[in-house]
Amino acid sequence: MENYQAQPELLKDKLILVTGAGDGIGRAAALDYALHGATVILLGRTVSKLEKLYDEIAASGAPEAIIHPMNLQHAKEEDYRQLGDTLLEQYGRLDGLLHNAATLGPRTPIQFYPLDAWLQVMQVNVNAPFLLTRSLLPALLAAPQASVIFTSSSVGRKGRAYWGGYAVSKFAVEGMMQILADELKQTSAVRVNSIDPGATRTAMRKAAYPAENPLNLPTPESRMALYLFLMGNDSQGVTGQALNA
Ligand code: NDP
Repeated sequence: MENYQAQPELLKDKLILVTGAGDGIGRAAALDYALHGATVILLGRTVSKLEKLYDEIAASGAPEAIIHPMNLQHAKEEDYRQLGDTLLEQYGRLDGLLHNAATLGPRTPIQFYPLDAWLQVMQVNVNAPFLLTRSLLPALLAAPQASVIFTSSSVGRKGRAYWGGYAVSKFAVEGMMQILADELKQTSAVRVNSIDPGATRTAMRKAAYPAENPLNLPTPESRMALYLFLMGNDSQGVTGQALNA
């Protein structure tokens, strides 16, 4: 997949929503999607970061982005419903959804893992993608061939000591991906897959591995081939797959 070369206009006329678009991998994906012709809805909690990316996209000459501030920790069911309704009313469809935002939480043995931290991790990493997917499905089904991408992790495919709620949340994400893919494959053209980006130079990686030299890690920008492939029509028919960037 490193060798996949996306056509410059791969995502022309597509409307794509990216969560956690303000930083790290989500920022790189949102920018790359815009540079390949998509109108990108930048969903995130830190408006200043979203505005900076909005300006960068505008300066590049790519289609104007849309900022949608939302804190996935606190958003209510009604907020998701409104987003889905507005999208359908204003644009009539959604071509792509990248579930990227996540929170790391403490890395602590299960025996000592605090309940409040556990619930916070599940809210952002599992409940939010569920609520967002559910509210956006009518718009995704209205697109000719939409793509939904979940973001996993190596610890969401094989458990590892001390990764606690984060790892469990990523297992849940893989399950949600499989179930949704299975539900949609007979009845629609919506494809659903998950990506493990692999160790990548971001704030989350720094928090998880403070002693590591970030310069030894690949940048988010260098991870984008699979993100582009799965979002564009080249991946038509690929569904239910757990893939590595
Ligand atoms: P970052 O921490 O760099 O970026 C995460 C983004 O999600 C930020 O923009 C952040 O917003 C946003 N976010 C976090 N919590 C919320 C919330 N409550 N509401 C809205 N937005 C929120 O992480 P990465 O780029 O490293 O991670 C991206 C994805 O890749 C995650 O799903 C992660 O689990 C996964 N991953 C990353 C790996 C890595 O090595 N980096 C390895 C394996 C998986 P803000 O900017 O405001 O903080």
